Parts: sequence; C-alpha cells; structure tokens
Amino acid sequence: MQALRRLPSTAEPAAFLRYSRTVTQEFSTHSAEETIELGRQLARRLKPPSLVLLRGDLGAGKTTMAKGIAEAFDAAAQDDVTSPTFTLIHEYRGPQVSVYHVDLYRVDTPRELETLGLDDLIGQERNLLLVEWGEKFPRFLRERDVEIAFQRTGPDDRRITITTATD
Ligand code: ADP
Ligand code: MG
Repeated sequence: MQALRRLPSTAEPAAFLRYSRTVTQEFSTHSAEETIELGRQLARRLKPPSLVLLRGDLGAGKTTMAKGIAEAFDAAAQDDVTSPTFTLIHEYRGPQVSVYHVDLYRVDTPRELETLGLDDLIGQERNLLLVEWGEKFPRFLRERDVEIAFQRTGPDDRRITITTATD
C-alpha cells in the first residue's frame, strides 16, 4: 500500500476504500506516461506467483500499464512491450521474475483457452501473469490476486482502480 500512496502528485489516489478482504485504490492519470509510471510503482507490491487481471475497453490503457510493470521487473524495455492481441501471449523474462502478458480478446471458448497452456504458467514461483480480457472466463475472476480496472474519462485521462486481496 505504502508505495502507491507515495505516487507523484500527477497520479494521486482519488479514494482509498478498505473492505474486510480486499483493498481498493483509485488513481487518475492524464497521459500514457503517467499510466506507465503507475505500473512501475504498482510492480513493487506484486509478488510472484501472481495473477493480475487488466480490465477495460479497447484503448483504455491495459497494455500501456503492462509496459511499466514489465520494465519494473527488468523483464523488458517499455517500447518492447506490445499488444499480444494476435500472438495471445508474450513472455518477458527478467532476472527474478518472468512476466507473461496475455490477451484473451480473441479467445472465446474454454477449449481455446486450454490450448494456450496457461495452467502451466499460473502459480509457478517466478511467474507474474498480466491478463487482458480475463474476466471473460469465470475461473480467472475466482483465481485473480489483483484486478486493475481502467476507465476512459477523457482523451488522455483514465481512472484506474486497483483491487488487491489482503488476507
Ligand atoms: P488497451 O490495452 O486497454 O486496449 P492500450 O494501452 O493499448 O489499451 O492503448 C491505450 C491508448 O491510449 C494508447 O494509445 C495510449 O497512448 C493512449 N493514452 C492516452 N492517455 C492515456 C492514459 N492516461 N493512460 C493510458 N493510455 C493513454
Ligand atoms: Mg491491450
């Protein structure tokens, strides 16, 4: 929690709500660069193995945030993180953590999902999975450790809500 509350003033938390089992924090960003920076800051409290759902419409900023997260783990330079829309999974190996960026936009059936082999990746000690459109499959809503939701509030403005299980 602490790291995110010390964000630069450009990305101040707009609200902080505490529930019994989850913590939700809300941020607003005003450029792609700010969203990348928020991803870098968030990465400090992501501890593999972890399954992170990135939720929001096309163009909301999911892949943009993945750039910051992958960079924070020295897994990829931000410019090398591109949308896995067609390739479905991109793997970025860092010294300690492997970041898997997954896009399920074009995956519709449990059978298609199975062929991706995500079960071999989820829960592995050094793996961090960032999954776009994971909410299409109920199992990911049950299994997720963190959910990051993006809403477009203006051409360059996004409201970003991060929900983390506390236990
Ligand atoms: P998604 O993966 O959700 O479909 P992308 O991250 O690929 O979305 O695209 C987001 C687009 O919106 C990029 O072109 C990015 O430059 C632009 N953008 C503008 N403002 C922001 C912002 N505040 N946060 C994230 N992206 C932004
Ligand atoms: Mg994307």
